[in-house]
Amino acid sequence: KRPKPITLLNERIKNQKLNGQTNVSTVIHWFRTDLRVEDNIGLSKAIEQLSAAKKHNKNAQLVALYTINEHDFRAHLESGWKLKFALEALSSLRKSLSKINVALVFRHFEPKDALLSRSSQFADWFKTQCMSLSSNEGEILVTSNAQYETDELYRDLKVFDKTDSKFHYQVFHDQCTVEPGVLTTGKGSQYTVFTPWYKKWVEYLHSHQDGKDVVSTVEIDMNKPVNEKLEKYESHSYSLSKEFLEYLPIEDLGLPEATEKEAHRTLQEFFNARASKYNEEKDILALDSTSHLSCYITSGLISTRTVVNFGYHANGDSLMRRDIKQNNSMENFVKEVAWRDFYKHVMCNWPYTSMDIAFKFETMDIKWDNDVEQFRKWCVGETGLPIVDAIMRKLLQTGYISNRCRMIVASFLSKNLLVDWRWGERWFRKHLIDADLASNSGGWGFCSSTGVDSQPYFRIFNMKLQTERYDPQGDFVKSWIPELEKVDDVKILREGAVNGTDIEGYCAPIVDLKESRERALEAFREGM
Ligand code: FAD
Repeated sequence: KRPKPITLLNERIKNQKLNGQTNVSTVIHWFRTDLRVEDNIGLSKAIEQLSAAKKHNKNAQLVALYTINEHDFRAHLESGWKLKFALEALSSLRKSLSKINVALVFRHFEPKDALLSRSSQFADWFKTQCMSLSSNEGEILVTSNAQYETDELYRDLKVFDKTDSKFHYQVFHDQCTVEPGVLTTGKGSQYTVFTPWYKKWVEYLHSHQDGKDVVSTVEIDMNKPVNEKLEKYESHSYSLSKEFLEYLPIEDLGLPEATEKEAHRTLQEFFNARASKYNEEKDILALDSTSHLSCYITSGLISTRTVVNFGYHANGDSLMRRDIKQNNSMENFVKEVAWRDFYKHVMCNWPYTSMDIAFKFETMDIKWDNDVEQFRKWCVGETGLPIVDAIMRKLLQTGYISNRCRMIVASFLSKNLLVDWRWGERWFRKHLIDADLASNSGGWGFCSSTGVDSQPYFRIFNMKLQTERYDPQGDFVKSWIPELEKVDDVKILREGAVNGTDIEGYCAPIVDLKESRERALEAFREGM
């Protein structure tokens, strides 16, 4: 019966007083997964409160802070692609902030033991770092935007516990389009089914509209310096250890440019060129025509409020048009963005879903086969199933694969290979540039039939049919599997080297699709 961490955080948020501290000399905005200046609620609250503080103390300053915990990466909890992207985003953020005379300071947390950021040790360290950023005797006010993973929620609660007459802490809801806890069923609980939840999401946004956009955003005046001058702080640059830097991917096939400007350009370009064909093209693997906004959204270079407003206007100022009932690409695109909110709301309401536990408890008894060698082959793209291997190789080389790709390989791992979905979820988290705990475990739960509003367990993708539908000529497969580059036989491109066909350097499928399907059905029937 312990209260949920989100409930505890919301109580703290409710009690925090804006402009309540009159003796503040330093306001610090703690950047986490909100690496942008535009439409950043916590940052704009920091600026607002700095203005109020300046009325009492004309030397009051705003400083931006970013903390990094090596353990998260060393323990392979986070992806090197994502880290590389975030480091580039930070250097661009630093430039943007310097235009308004705000310094971005970087601090590196090196825990002696394996404690994560939620520890009290971190909160003590964090407070000391903040104190060291204050140049004079006044009080310190730290602002941040909420993160909804359980460890992060507890971390913020620990920081709240450190508040005293000199150190104030505030958290704001910013990550979702509609904040968690707002949309409830008639009985006041969190929805477990997406469709009615989504209807509510749309209704809520339409009915709370205030202005021409469907969801309000906040603006920062980049022509108005926040501080009189740009302060210099020690440890101004990233001081990461050599071993840590080795964790970054060395080669990359075009890491997206990690700037806010590029995030907005990507959004604009998607709406100009491809959004109207989203329904028809999103699953065609060789086209790769979805928005590619996920890395920007996950690291916070663009808010989903901005993305949803774009979709709303492109759809004739509506999120749900009555005159186009079916197949409306704009609406379906916004609906996908809403899935992200849905999974975050679910994670807040059932915190165990961020701790490697299946939403559906009853699936915890499934007897997974967990063949380590088959799992390894899946990871590196050597299963002999061309579509699976092409996708997994693309993931390793670029850190990005589309939703259809994710569904195909997740279904194959959890059903055909009968490997525990959590192994796959970890592998994705370690390699995706857009790795996000809620969407990732939500997506894995969906495909493996263990999660919230998931596919029925008997829905097992047929790899042959998936290739037929989404890569009919094998273009995608050929582009990622050099061994198949010269193969023209569509049957081989769809099913692999079956019936004794020999392809140099490319193995025959490690499982028979029909047999493995039957085995999965039996294991799920027995386990649930
Ligand atoms: P678009 O199709 O252009 O969609 C626009 C945006 O909507 C995305 O950027 C994303 O923010 C959101 N979105 C789209 N589909 C979903 C979805 N199914 N669930 C939640 N949000 C969605 N998404 C992540 O951001 N991080 C993850 O770690 C992640 N892991 C996944 C794992 C599995 C097994 C599955 C099936 C899906 C996962 N997704 C994840 C969701 C989705 O696949 C990606 O968001 C999407 O492929 C990103 O490409 P895009 O930006 O071009 O998407």
